[in-house]
Amino acid sequence: MSFDLASRLAARRAEHLYRQRPLLETPQQPEVLVDGERLLAFCSNDYLGLANHPQVIQAMRDGADKWGVGGGASHLVIGHSSPHHELEEALAAFTGRPRALLFSTGYMANLAAVTALVGQGDTVLEDRLNHASLLDAGLLSGARFSRYLHNDAASLAKRLEKAVGNTLVVTDGVFSMDGDLADLPAICAAARQRNAWVVVDDAHGFGPLGATGGGIVEHFGLGIDEVPVLVGTLGKAFGTAGAFVAGSEELIETLIQFARPYIYTTSQPPAVACATLKSLELLRSEHWRREHLSQLIARFRRGAAEIGLSLVDSPTPIQPIIVGSSERALKLSAALRERGILVGAIRPPTVPAGSARLRVTFSASHNQAHVEHLLDALAECWNSLAEEP
Ligand SMILES: *Cc1c(COP(=O)(O)O)cnc(C)c1O
Repeated sequence: MSFDLASRLAARRAEHLYRQRPLLETPQQPEVLVDGERLLAFCSNDYLGLANHPQVIQAMRDGADKWGVGGGASHLVIGHSSPHHELEEALAAFTGRPRALLFSTGYMANLAAVTALVGQGDTVLEDRLNHASLLDAGLLSGARFSRYLHNDAASLAKRLEKAVGNTLVVTDGVFSMDGDLADLPAICAAARQRNAWVVVDDAHGFGPLGATGGGIVEHFGLGIDEVPVLVGTLGKAFGTAGAFVAGSEELIETLIQFARPYIYTTSQPPAVACATLKSLELLRSEHWRREHLSQLIARFRRGAAEIGLSLVDSPTPIQPIIVGSSERALKLSAALRERGILVGAIRPPTVPAGSARLRVTFSASHNQAHVEHLLDALAECWNSLAEEP
């Protein structure tokens, strides 16, 4: 017996599923240097343009001067410092919930929230298009695990009838590869009928969605009774790093006591929390970022419809162009790159087989001319792709 890694890698290549990491040689911004090439990028999750914002950078510098660089230890030992605590209080206020708990990554926040709440003898029901971290969390929990049809409250209700033990209903707020919104009013109503708790991971909703950037729950006007467990990540619209879970006093204390991905890891560098405090302030107060972003999205959707692209029903900065096979997705992505545009080709297993796509994302740091450039290039590339068999 031996590990035949070479043939696994060769098979991956033959299926057009081989992944490569573009090497970024500039900060996050629309015009980037990637692998030595100057490109206009539409693939970052820095939706509000805060990842490279001078005030956020300065807050991180000041934080490093004051608090040093490393977190030093886990939160329960001696790694929970004042900036972490202040950020938790600010995130609780922002979400209108009694408490929030800071995590080092969104992946860990999701593992923590699900595995601390359910185990053997319980049930986890998830949207089949949920983010990988939520699916992994459900599997790891040891609870009975089932996936309902995408955004389908009737499919969820059927599974809820058979649920045993404590039941969690888990969904992305904004679906990360499609950009569509979870139908939370219907999902929460179905969950409520069976006393199930709803967990919403709004990694892509916080910032762009809601009147003050409060994400999908603000968009739909839902509170802690409908969505007891609300997860947000800080590496996307916040432009920094980390994540949080917001909820009741008891929920947060339960996570502190029992969530292994919270307990057994080093706290994030305090300077990162200092940066996030600043980006949270900008996210809430600078409404022009959301408005500008909406205008870019609307312009793109109009232009894309004229070209005849198949778009998803998405009001968010995530605007995928579904092309079908992985090969076609790679071809379209390469053709755009030849025209100076960088958009990621997203392939299985990240998305279901046959739904490979270009995941176009917009940021408040894009301007109208950037969008026109993208549309012009898409028009050319799409037509030549359509002519091929
Ligand atoms: C990015 C993402 C995560 C993971 O967050 P990280 O902080 O990057 O680990 C979790 N859920 C969703 C929906 C995401 O898009």
